[in-house]
Amino acid sequence: MILTAVACCLIWLIAGKGLSFSLTVMVSVLIIACPCALGLATPLAIIVGTGTAARYGILYKTAAVLEGSGSVDTVILDKTGTVTYGRPEVTDVVCADGLTEDRILELAASAEAESQHPVAAAVMRRAEGLSIPGRTGFRSVPGEGVACTIDGLETAVGNRRFMESLHADTSGLDRTYDGLSASGRTCMFVARGGTAIGIIAVSDPVRPESPEAVRSLDRMGISAVMITGDNSHVTSRVADETGIAEFRADALPQDKLEAVKELQVLQRNVAMVGDGINDSPALAQANVGIAVAGGTDIAVGAADIVLMNDDIRTVPAALEIGRATVRGIRQNLFLAFIYNAVCVPVAAGLPYLLGMAEFTHMPMLAAAAMACSSLSVTANALRLGRFRPSSVPEMSRRASRTASRA
Ligand code: ADP
Ligand code: MG
Repeated sequence: MILTAVACCLIWLIAGKGLSFSLTVMVSVLIIACPCALGLATPLAIIVGTGTAARYGILYKTAAVLEGSGSVDTVILDKTGTVTYGRPEVTDVVCADGLTEDRILELAASAEAESQHPVAAAVMRRAEGLSIPGRTGFRSVPGEGVACTIDGLETAVGNRRFMESLHADTSGLDRTYDGLSASGRTCMFVARGGTAIGIIAVSDPVRPESPEAVRSLDRMGISAVMITGDNSHVTSRVADETGIAEFRADALPQDKLEAVKELQVLQRNVAMVGDGINDSPALAQANVGIAVAGGTDIAVGAADIVLMNDDIRTVPAALEIGRATVRGIRQNLFLAFIYNAVCVPVAAGLPYLLGMAEFTHMPMLAAAAMACSSLSVTANALRLGRFRPSSVPEMSRRASRTASRA
């Protein structure tokens, strides 16, 4: 910039235009070429974009994520707690001969008491009022279940994979488990001392906004994939209800992580949306990790974007705002660049060569043009503040605004 100004000055001096003229040219070029608008272009758009997103309950942890979310082309959705409410209710309690449903619930509730998983909460709600025995040695295996020792016997609650890893005998209840799973319920065996003694089945309704969120992603040309640790019957049912074409069931946390990596190898820009501890490795690996409202602390910590309202349509809205911000940044850079491209030759004395001498001696004009360029970049960035993502309807927008005021 300084070199250009000095060069212009020297050229006019050599051309014999005198010191005053040449210095005026140099000052004009210096003023015009000052890259304020260029410097403002990106940060301003990001600040305004972040503000717009915050009104919808979308919090970006870094500015880079806001830009990154504009280029997402694949979204991986966790099922439980993301596509569904994550507030399952116990629908069936099955017990082996000689036991009561209450006993199964008491044992399961004791094992689940320290778990943060949504099915644990469902068991605890159902076991309210029962006398829950004490436990020792609690452990939780993400994507599988929980285990502890109750009255000296190892007690476990979890899916079939968990029972297999514990070498628990489930043969007496296998058929019931399969039957309940086929009806679209999430089932857990309750095992004690190495034998399954009961089954607890839960059902978790799909969020009513999920189909619309998937349609919005589709409209944006973003493909949605659902991945879950739940069984394939439940998963294909939820996929049908929401219109998700591609899904994977029985996935461990490690499988979710691998799914993200596989897509990234294919040069896809992946956003992972999840709520649980089991989603955290994938949330951290994804180009953009999105934790939904009410997610566990670990998921919120691993994510790049945190949603403050539990309307899943906020996911496409966050990506729309990302795209709008990237568009705003590009427009701003163009505006800042075009000012310099047009005005630097003018300040350097081009009008003089074209016979319009009166336009040359005007550093004030240069200053005004400079201010205009900064103003136009600012005005363009502020337009982002009025951006309305089409994925979120007016009503919930108002609701989230009220929530943010409260
Ligand atoms: P999702 O991927 O849908 O969020 P998870 O990976 O958390 O599901 O869990 C997968 C499956 O593992 C559940 O459907 C359930 O059968 C079993 N599971 C996980 N955590 C628990 C728990 N605390 N108690 C019982 N079963 C559990
Ligand atoms: Mg989940």
